[in-house]
Amino acid sequence: MDKIELVFATRNFNKLKEIRTIFKDSMFKILSLDNFPEIPSWHEDGESFAENAIKKATIVAKYTGKYTIADDSGLEVEALNGRPGIYSARYAGKNSDDKANNNKLIKELKGIPQNKRDAMFRCVIVVASPDCKYCLAEGTCKGNIIDIPRGKNGFGYDPIFFIPDIKRTMAELSLSEKNKISHRALAIKELKKILPEFLKKTL
Ligand code: IMP
Repeated sequence: MDKIELVFATRNFNKLKEIRTIFKDSMFKILSLDNFPEIPSWHEDGESFAENAIKKATIVAKYTGKYTIADDSGLEVEALNGRPGIYSARYAGKNSDDKANNNKLIKELKGIPQNKRDAMFRCVIVVASPDCKYCLAEGTCKGNIIDIPRGKNGFGYDPIFFIPDIKRTMAELSLSEKNKISHRALAIKELKKILPEFLKKTL
């Protein structure tokens, strides 16, 4: 049987790699925005992860005429009342990179003891049909923030996100280890459960 094409609305190579690994043996073939270079850009101006993900997925689905998945994700730090949250990608400024964002977070948490540095990665993932119907799923992953980065894998806040249960940072995990516990992997696992019903209703 031919695989069903699903566009993943991201330009983040690392996320694409994670998603492709997760969907490897499924009935779906994952396309990316690289397959649609002419697609117009959009602003992530929603007030929640869900709002941003719905906007991304529906814009791209309408434009490409294909079922599209989009995620919005970020890090919520309890001692900072949930910041950086939806601003995770640009925490240290509009054109900031991962290193600058991590440094800003470490600075903001200066003086806060390790046992008060609880944090959570959150991911909302949405699948939208070409006529803009959608369903969504969420995944979270708990840890705490450390001052000295550890590990070379992953991206974003991974090197300072320590997971007590396994005594390693997210950046010390291999891709297949990360894909067992990450917020995105858990959100996709949920999505995979509801996807067949959604397709049945909307195809
Ligand atoms: P998004 O691309 O708008 O979802 O932005 C997500 C931002 O949150 C990224 O740029 C990272 O800073 C952070 N983030 C999301 N998922 C992860 C992850 O799996 N590891 C580390 N940082 C992440």
